[in-house]
Amino acid sequence: MSTSPSSVLEAGHREIVDSFASFVRRELVPLAAELPESGDLPPAEMRDYVRRRSAKLGFYAADHPEELGGSGMPFTAVVQLHHAAGSSGCPLAPYALAGSDGPSPLLRQGTPEQIERYLKPLVRGEATRCLALTEPNAGSDAFRLTSTAVRRDDGGWVLSGRKTFVSNAGHADFALVVAQAEAGPTAFVVGMDHPRLRIGQRYAGMSGEELYELVLDGVELPADAVVGGEAGIGAALGHGIDSLSRGRLVVAAMCNGIAEYALRLGVEYARERRAFGERIGAYQHVQEHLVTSRAEVEAAKLLTLACARLVDDGTETPENAALAKLTASETAVRVVDRALRVHGATGWVRGHPLEFLYRYVRMMTIIEGTSEIQKVIVARAMGLG
Ligand SMILES: Cc1cc2nc3c(=O)[nH]c(=O)nc-3n(C[C@H](O)[C@H](O)[C@H](O)COP(=O)(O)OP(=O)(O)OC[C@H]3O[C@@H](n4cnc5c(N)ncnc54)[C@H](O)[C@@H]3O)c2cc1C
Repeated sequence: MSTSPSSVLEAGHREIVDSFASFVRRELVPLAAELPESGDLPPAEMRDYVRRRSAKLGFYAADHPEELGGSGMPFTAVVQLHHAAGSSGCPLAPYALAGSDGPSPLLRQGTPEQIERYLKPLVRGEATRCLALTEPNAGSDAFRLTSTAVRRDDGGWVLSGRKTFVSNAGHADFALVVAQAEAGPTAFVVGMDHPRLRIGQRYAGMSGEELYELVLDGVELPADAVVGGEAGIGAALGHGIDSLSRGRLVVAAMCNGIAEYALRLGVEYARERRAFGERIGAYQHVQEHLVTSRAEVEAAKLLTLACARLVDDGTETPENAALAKLTASETAVRVVDRALRVHGATGWVRGHPLEFLYRYVRMMTIIEGTSEIQKVIVARAMGLG
């Protein structure tokens, strides 16, 4: 294919992106060949290894400043690393970059002690965490919490309630738990070994993800467990909203990479596979799948890269990231589906990358806010509702 329009916005970080792609090719692809055949989620030891190795090379949590242990890269570069992870097709590549188990933007608001004790090990890839926000009756409406944080006379806290669909709770070193205090939603750091923090139900996601219920059975905490100390009491909503755009753009970039990879597979197959005496790529119905996909991937990529630049310029607004996440995640779902159609039964068979991606990419329309919620954000910004 000729030079793509989005390459104009990619210029400037080519060296680091090429270096990451080469790390994936040289180190992660051979390692992925050792993945067990059963189960979609790579074993925890392998994920740990990939995370630590990538942190050592400066890719993991790369946008964090050097004083926190990151590489101080602009967000535009980080978004391109996530794209490269998705487009590599390597199932281990996503674990080389910080996601929902890595350094939390909430902890950037932490006290100096919390930054030292919790954030820095996350940035170095030495620890992982989970975020316990969602509740059985508070999903999209995330801050209508019924889990409570009650302050004791000695300044400590007692947390009670239930959290659900918590990623990485089975493997994390600590949880960031958001509960309703008198002053409003408040985030707490809770060690996963706390005797009154219990893992309840386990959920198996459609592409192997493990999600957990967390039961807060009167979790007693010292005063300094509040993220940000006294200033953090009732502040979780504001701190959470501040960081949403980055999280959404990282998901968007991963989706664009996955879509690009799926499209590549579709095009390669359509050029080779023959039916009715002709290569299937010569048929207009097949071309329709692939050309429409190319147009949509290119548009999603341009939108995501432009929004990442707005983040670096300090002029991003939440509706732009919502537009990018909505466009990229829905595009990726459609493009993977079309690439699978082009492959016929070959792509549907267990073990084929498209069969896995068909299941994997679906969660991207739910995490970091569902597609409907992205539309709510954009509609509000348009003065509707
Ligand atoms: C893979 C995965 C990982 C996750 N990891 C975590 C985690 O680590 N920590 C955590 O706390 N949570 C996590 N979650 C939970 C996730 O944040 C919620 O699933 C998500 O916010 C949606 O909430 P819900 O599932 O309760 O759906 P609901 O909020 O019940 O929504 C149901 C449907 O109604 C729609 N809807 C709701 N409100 C509106 C509205 N105002 N307008 C239009 N449509 C609306 C939604 O879009 C959806 O289609 C994870 C979920 C998944 C799938």
